[in-house]
Amino acid sequence: MNGNTQRINIGRDAFDVEAIRADFPALRQTVHGRALVFLDNAASAQKPFRVIDTVRQYYTDDYANVHRGLHYLSERASDAFEAARGKVRGFINAREDCEIVFVRGTTEAINLVAASFGQSHLKAGDEILITEMEHHSNIVPWQLLGERLGTVLKVAPVNDAGELLMDEFERLLGPRTRLVAVTHVSNALGTINPIERIIALAHAHGARVLIDGAQSVPHTAVDVQALDCDFYAFSGHKLYGPTGIGVLYGKRELLEAMPPYQGGGEMIREVSFTRTTYAELPHKFEAGTPHIVGAIGLGAAIDYLQEIGLEAIARHEDELLAYATARLQDIPGLRMVGTAARKAGIASFLLDGVHTHDVGTILDRHGVAVRAGHHCAMPLMTRFGVSGTTRASFALYNTRAEIDTLAGAIRHAQELFGR
Ligand code: PMP
Repeated sequence: MNGNTQRINIGRDAFDVEAIRADFPALRQTVHGRALVFLDNAASAQKPFRVIDTVRQYYTDDYANVHRGLHYLSERASDAFEAARGKVRGFINAREDCEIVFVRGTTEAINLVAASFGQSHLKAGDEILITEMEHHSNIVPWQLLGERLGTVLKVAPVNDAGELLMDEFERLLGPRTRLVAVTHVSNALGTINPIERIIALAHAHGARVLIDGAQSVPHTAVDVQALDCDFYAFSGHKLYGPTGIGVLYGKRELLEAMPPYQGGGEMIREVSFTRTTYAELPHKFEAGTPHIVGAIGLGAAIDYLQEIGLEAIARHEDELLAYATARLQDIPGLRMVGTAARKAGIASFLLDGVHTHDVGTILDRHGVAVRAGHHCAMPLMTRFGVSGTTRASFALYNTRAEIDTLAGAIRHAQELFGR
């Protein structure tokens, strides 16, 4: 481990945001001559030294392909890769390591389920129920499946606050519903969905449930056994880990009953030109050389977050959201989009007379990084009658002072546009 760059603040008694900020080297820079205020965390989070150093160490000293070689480095890399799987299992409290499939990210996890579960468990006329607030990655795979199989996509609507209309959701659950695929937290609005209830209702109707956890795992503790969801998907890069690595959790009996998603090395037991048998879980779903160092880096991110404590992180981000909501609502001409009673650290808004892209550009000149646009949720934008919003999204390293900078920069945008 490279001792020069390690700045891990292990054993913090209280949540010390300044100590946490010191763990993230990217936060030290200036942008356009201003201190960087990074509020684009829902798109991707910055990386702590713990992750950067782990990745560097593995490429420097421990790198080899996994599961194939008998040599020392390969065994060491394989052990670290499988240890990362164990960390993910513990992180979401899955029952067994083999229920953790490494994929590229949430998008690939959902596509895996659509292709494999779709092929083996769904047929023409079967219904898949999603919500109006889904990310495109939890819409388009089901449409592609519909084109192939003739499955039918049903969509549960949201109210003006951006909350799922549970009555409508329940009404849409029917005898043909085979799968419910719902985001835990909306990336565009911040709404936290009542997934416990959604899962219970879906199961009562004999449907399986996939939860898109891309926006929830960085902010809240997840227990897939307590939830009893059938699939849970998330991405490493939003969880302070590397890009290109993500996780599909699936219940063992389901994953066992599903065919491979891709064919190739790693996923086979025996191959001949007439017949191939497949490897055990999870390898059956991990064709080809995996993102070895990505998985190990994700394990390091999980270690880091667990040392700080997910509850402490959630508390800090809830406080930031409450503060930001109050500050932003105070600005005349600013309208929040997404005012659900239960929200995670996302503030989406519109400014009268200023296009969202112009807001984003002006904030950038203040060093404030936000996202402006449709947030890969075009149907949701249509529901709210807008083409996009400006979105500030908070992470464990953000501060109240940064939200003040955001508010000041918004005021400046209004002045520039004569509002
Ligand atoms: N679902 C949600 C709710 C998301 O926020 C995102 C990322 N914006 C995704 C899915 C897709 O994640 P990825 O691009 O990492 O596959």
